[in-house]
Amino acid sequence: MSQLSSVFLFLIRQFPKGHLLATLCLAGVVGFALIAPGAGNSVTSKTTLDLSLPSPSEKAPIIEIPARPWLEATVRSGDTLGKLLGDRGVSATAIHELMSSSKEIKQLANIKPGDIIRLEKNHIGQLIAVQYQPTRIKTITADRIDGNWVLTETQRNYEHQIKYANAVIDDSLFLAGQQAGMSDNMIMKLANIFGWDIDFVMDIRRGDHFRLLYEELFLDGEKVGDGNIVMAEFWNQGRQVNAFRYESPEGGIDYLDLKGDSLRKEFIRTPVSFTRISSRFSTGRYHPVLHRVRAHKGIDYAAPRGTPVKAAGDGKVSFAGNKGGYGRVIIIQHGQSYSTLYAHLNSYANGVRSGKRVKQGQVIGYVGSSGLATGPHLHYEFQLNGVHRNPLTVPLPKARGIPDKERKEFLIYANKLRNQLALYAETSVLAQNESN
Ligand SMILES: [Zn+2]
Repeated sequence: MSQLSSVFLFLIRQFPKGHLLATLCLAGVVGFALIAPGAGNSVTSKTTLDLSLPSPSEKAPIIEIPARPWLEATVRSGDTLGKLLGDRGVSATAIHELMSSSKEIKQLANIKPGDIIRLEKNHIGQLIAVQYQPTRIKTITADRIDGNWVLTETQRNYEHQIKYANAVIDDSLFLAGQQAGMSDNMIMKLANIFGWDIDFVMDIRRGDHFRLLYEELFLDGEKVGDGNIVMAEFWNQGRQVNAFRYESPEGGIDYLDLKGDSLRKEFIRTPVSFTRISSRFSTGRYHPVLHRVRAHKGIDYAAPRGTPVKAAGDGKVSFAGNKGGYGRVIIIQHGQSYSTLYAHLNSYANGVRSGKRVKQGQVIGYVGSSGLATGPHLHYEFQLNGVHRNPLTVPLPKARGIPDKERKEFLIYANKLRNQLALYAETSVLAQNESN
């Protein structure tokens, strides 16, 4: 699951806190499980979603662990696996043999109080198996086979259930999402997907609305977490933006629009979070330290000292060091045409130095006031073909979308999802009318 949770690393704009207390969202907001476990309503049969994606990620069926004569032991404070086994009559030699059998066996020793360890002994009391479940879905079993310990790891899969939610924004995306029954985490995911196109603080207008299909994760009929947003539609000031989750055959995950182009851009607009702009791009301004009029070829973001500064895009550090008025500065070259510059840093992030490759959103340094600066801020410059451009307004190139050979299949898939979403939306209206 780790690859799924680290899809996007880009900057997320903060939600206005005051909005949490502000007026409630007016319009009808629905977020109900249409395929809830055991919810035998008429809706279920009509809208079972066929998510047969053009994707290689089909999960293996759940592995049933056959019932074995396990002896269960609860880990207490201060227990090690050795102590726990010793307390249950396993000889020191047998414990040593188990623990020194392989490097991977260490996983078994990583126990904490409250965990359950299962043991199996043969008819003469020798330890022949140990089993441990470090998480709800992962089980590690060591079996003694022909005098050797063999380790196997099994992973259960979550049951994915599709939920539909829609909301009209009266105040903030956050509030509307909550009204629609979405978790904070899911609202953040939605904001992340559309954050490249929509500034959720500045651009949102009353009446903007969205609808989406997303996954919830279940184990044994119990909800244990959120999955992914499968698709979403957002109407912002009358403009509609669509997003479809797509997993490439290589396992890369991206959100694509109706044409199969990525919603991401090659650059994040603002390389530092939680800031205000303290000085804009201009061709002439009075410099507070130099006391003369000078062009300001970048944007200043006032931020507390130590605030992380992120690489605006993938690239290679071409300079990291001291440079006159810039103080501690990092310059990143992005391909042939683009470069970005981050000045007045307090310090550099570990391992960031000239010649190193960096990823978009990676922390490269920390806000400071080195060089000619009146207070802690990030001075950020954006160059295209050697010419300074205003980072706030320069058109940013889109990240590469789907490869042409996969596009046709994607379009079919996207269309199918749109139809499913429409069906959910229709059903949701019907269900609402019925309950009124
Ligand atoms: Zn500046």
